[in-house]
Amino acid sequence: MPKPCFLSVVVPMYNEEEVIEVTYRRLKAVLDTLGETYEIVFVNDGSRDKTSDIVRAMCEADSTVKLVEFSRNFGHQIAVTAGMDHSSGRTVVLIDADLQDPPELIVDMVARWREGFDVVYGKRIERKGESWFKKLTAAMFYRLLRSMTSVNIPVDTGDFRLMDRKVCDALSSMRERSRFIRGMVSWAGFKQTSVDYVRDERFAGETKYPLRKMLRLSLDAMTSFSTKPLKIAGILGFVLSAVGFVYLFVVLYQHFFTNSTQQGWTSMVAISLLFHGITLSLLGVLGEYIGRTYEETKRRPLYLVSEAINFSGDEPEATR
Ligand code: UDP
Ligand code: MG
Repeated sequence: MPKPCFLSVVVPMYNEEEVIEVTYRRLKAVLDTLGETYEIVFVNDGSRDKTSDIVRAMCEADSTVKLVEFSRNFGHQIAVTAGMDHSSGRTVVLIDADLQDPPELIVDMVARWREGFDVVYGKRIERKGESWFKKLTAAMFYRLLRSMTSVNIPVDTGDFRLMDRKVCDALSSMRERSRFIRGMVSWAGFKQTSVDYVRDERFAGETKYPLRKMLRLSLDAMTSFSTKPLKIAGILGFVLSAVGFVYLFVVLYQHFFTNSTQQGWTSMVAISLLFHGITLSLLGVLGEYIGRTYEETKRRPLYLVSEAINFSGDEPEATR
């Protein structure tokens, strides 16, 4: 069993060789001012650069640094989960590796935790150095999600947050694959509060969240926290068939009881294309849910660990 410490900092990393050294130093500087015991749990999410070598060297020099090495890239939310699973602190902070979230804010978060809050999340009042496209899509996504679910997920917050051990354990007990950690924390409840911050530019390197991964995260969030898209599909189908029925009677009436039969290949094709389009996209919505249900039923482990360094006993933990 790892020795419990006061604070665990979980840092997921995917190809972060350019920033990780600086991140470590800035984190360390902040953590040392707390005057409490701490650990930094780095999770290497299958990086293909020197990230792993750099952190391994840190582990040798500093026993507060720990490394969970994945067997391949499993994705950011899963990496954060692994870090939480391996953490032992009374409190746990989730922070990105690229210094977009200022480590200095941890001091304020700890202060709020001492006031009795179980979750202190960082709320972005400004995002620097991100494209208007990312800001716009992010703002739209948070608001759309909010309107779709009954879980109160705060807008403009990322995963940068401090959690009490009991919240961390609650999250670790939820083993779903489609993970949207911010939503899961909201779902868990407990006493929550926020601290405002300005999100900096990435310190170096490129974003590891291309459009493809962003889309996947938003779909995961949507499907895990709402079944409204399915209900909307049903309602839309009902309304359209009602309209169709009424129109059918109009056309039949005209055909049998008046001299003017409705004509037009163009309108037929237009209607047919429109309705097939709608049907297929609704099937797509259904598919998103069915695919995820299938993934969950396989009950595979969320991730595979190839190596865990500096955890007491250095148990060669292969899987979880
Ligand atoms: N990350 C990860 N696995 C991935 C993608 C990203 O562990 O597959 C990490 C990344 O190293 C960083 C954090 O997740 O610490 C957030 O990624 P990034 O800063 O690229 O996202 P953005 O801030 O651009 O949304
Ligand atoms: Mg970033």
